[in-house]
Amino acid sequence: MPILKDFRYHAPVSVDEALALLRKCEKPVVLAGGTFVLNTLKKTAAYPTDVIGLRKIAPLHGIRDTARETAIGSMTTLAEIASSPVIREHFAVLAEAAARAATTPLRHMATIGGNVASRFFWVDLPVVLMALGAKAAWSGVKTKKTLTIEDFLALTGQEARGILTEIVLPKSGLTGVYFRHTQTIEVDVPIVAIAFAARRQADAVKDVRCIVNTTLSRPVRLAGTASYFETTDIKKWKAAEAAEALRGDLQQSKLDDYRLHCLCADLELLIGKFKQT
Ligand SMILES: Cc1cc2nc3c(=O)[nH]c(=O)nc-3n(C[C@H](O)[C@H](O)[C@H](O)COP(=O)(O)OP(=O)(O)OC[C@H]3O[C@@H](n4cnc5c(N)ncnc54)[C@H](O)[C@@H]3O)c2cc1C
Repeated sequence: MPILKDFRYHAPVSVDEALALLRKCEKPVVLAGGTFVLNTLKKTAAYPTDVIGLRKIAPLHGIRDTARETAIGSMTTLAEIASSPVIREHFAVLAEAAARAATTPLRHMATIGGNVASRFFWVDLPVVLMALGAKAAWSGVKTKKTLTIEDFLALTGQEARGILTEIVLPKSGLTGVYFRHTQTIEVDVPIVAIAFAARRQADAVKDVRCIVNTTLSRPVRLAGTASYFETTDIKKWKAAEAAEALRGDLQQSKLDDYRLHCLCADLELLIGKFKQT
């Protein structure tokens, strides 16, 4: 049975203190809810010398709501997001996605920061956040900046070392839907997923974002599919036409027929749902 080796544990109380540790320690790892990190600690060859826990950094916890945007502290758990009245009112699709990830005990440990900053291909929230136009507040060891989720996920090497402090969602009145498919009917991570968000205006939609998690690479933005929905009257939306656009968008993605079939079926459900609203 794998056991943990020795490491130094740090509990900084500010982001600056955590960043100073990240710069100073030989092989540090950031610990949020620990649902990934504790597993990798048992397995990794590049064993960390120092574990930097974020739990005591108060500003990283909780949800801050203003008239224009909602900021979710990176240490906010998936359970808190799923049950937050603010998130449920303004970003219902995010609350639903958080509620469907993992299991009840895991959702009470797993944080939104860990979900995004892990940069694992198969996690649920990044595609939903991209569809909602969210930004990541990033305190890197070199610079502090605000990035789109896409740009955040693309950071590598030294650029990717730092603390994700919060996720900021603009209140732009988007309606979203999220579909995920798993290999088994038990609690499982997705093998493919699609997030869609748009603003309904009479018989048209504006600001369409259609993002696929192929789970084989970083999320893929479906420009052709979004354009199809944006330029076609809702009453004339046809699943077969949308599916053709989706297949065009995903031509380079090496998705197998099964995953493509799942996504095309999702488009049909999505169209039905939007026609009803
Ligand atoms: C059995 C099981 C089932 C799961 N099912 C799902 C699922 O269905 N859907 C899903 O999306 N996920 C799933 N997960 C994955 C996991 O629960 C989530 O991705 C979770 O959100 C990770 O958050 P955490 O707080 O536990 O991160 P941690 O394990 O603490 O950290 C994860 C990574 O992110 C880094 N990190 C964390 N927070 C920050 C930060 N603020 N700044 C910089 N770096 C940071 C850590 O250094 C580490 O590399 C599952 C995990 C398990 C073990």
